[in-house]
Amino acid sequence: MRALRLPGWKSEPELVQVDEPTAGPGQVVVRIGGAGACHSDLHLMHDFEAGAVPWNPPFTLGHENAGWVHQLGDGVTGLEVGQPVAVYGPWGCGTCARCRVGVDPYCENPAAAPVPGGGGGLGLDGGMAEYLLVPDDRHVVPLPEGLDPVQAAPLTDAGLTPYHAIRRSWPKLGPTSTAVVIGVGGLGHVGVQILKATTAARVIAVDTREQALALGAECGADLTMLSGPDTAEEIRRATGGRGADVVLDFVGADPTLTLGVAAARTVGDLTIVGIGGGTLPVSFFSVPYEVSIQTTYWGSRPELIEVLELGARGLVRPKTTTFPLQDALTAYRKMQDGTLEGRAVIVP
Ligand code: NAD
Ligand code: ZN
Repeated sequence: MRALRLPGWKSEPELVQVDEPTAGPGQVVVRIGGAGACHSDLHLMHDFEAGAVPWNPPFTLGHENAGWVHQLGDGVTGLEVGQPVAVYGPWGCGTCARCRVGVDPYCENPAAAPVPGGGGGLGLDGGMAEYLLVPDDRHVVPLPEGLDPVQAAPLTDAGLTPYHAIRRSWPKLGPTSTAVVIGVGGLGHVGVQILKATTAARVIAVDTREQALALGAECGADLTMLSGPDTAEEIRRATGGRGADVVLDFVGADPTLTLGVAAARTVGDLTIVGIGGGTLPVSFFSVPYEVSIQTTYWGSRPELIEVLELGARGLVRPKTTTFPLQDALTAYRKMQDGTLEGRAVIVP
């Protein structure tokens, strides 16, 4: 079969022929119907080097996957060949306290996981291929009716990651609150939809691109702002001087982290999701009182089930552009150039 593989750090992916996987005991092979292209893949190609993460290339890219069950290994029950499924992407050990409640991203026994701190497309072969080997059937999540694999694939990361970040801030997102989404790309535009679908907060979308702001408005943002030196001031003006109760930074670069702090309200949340390489100096007087600053990594399996439900009910609908596998590099190039709208989904 064809697969888009990352041959090494600081290198371009290559479309090559590899053997089709077969399902061992407890495993499942999924025929890929859609594999989302994430900006994290660009970080893998351009920014990371040995030691940045506890795994290394080569592997097949694609950590946002959905499709149909193709082959069931011995002992797998409750799934049927041909059934449409999403793949829960972070693959932990399965037995530690975190994994037992479906929080694989924070697996506490990574040495016993199929790959420490990663999954398919992140250290192990991912879904930018015709078939994906899922090493444990608990990662295969049946799709609710009304959701096809192309829609479902981005929900497994571009949906799940913002959902997890937003959900942990729900108590701060009441009707008088304001949430700011910085970076209205693959994750951010779904983040705006999730905020509108699950909270009564006002949503301000911030990006450097007009096209992204237009998508933010289409997704329900109450206000959009081009990011620049005055954005924090603009956010304060728009919130009666208070600032934003929750800031979600889907970029994570120096200017957005600075903006996040400058725009946050006392007792607010600043959640850093983007892996843009920025740093944020924190001291007693440099951030508003009682602002909680956190990073988040992906989301839990129960949260994926909730996101798929939002998708099936039409409350969250990623804006997708599909590309055939042979044009996957074009999708990444467009993401890099800022000419992609929403999420690119590779359909092999
Ligand atoms: P994307 O390229 O689709 O979107 C990024 C958006 O940010 C674009 O619209 C871009 O115009 C905008 N942007 C860039 N610089 C900006 C700035 N200075 N101010 C405002 N907007 C700016 O990327 P994506 O796939 O949505 O991923 C976003 C980030 O999240 C990446 O760093 C990715 O690696 C990371 N990520 C993190 C997790 C996690 O679990 N923490 C999961 C997936 C992706
Ligand atoms: Zn674990």
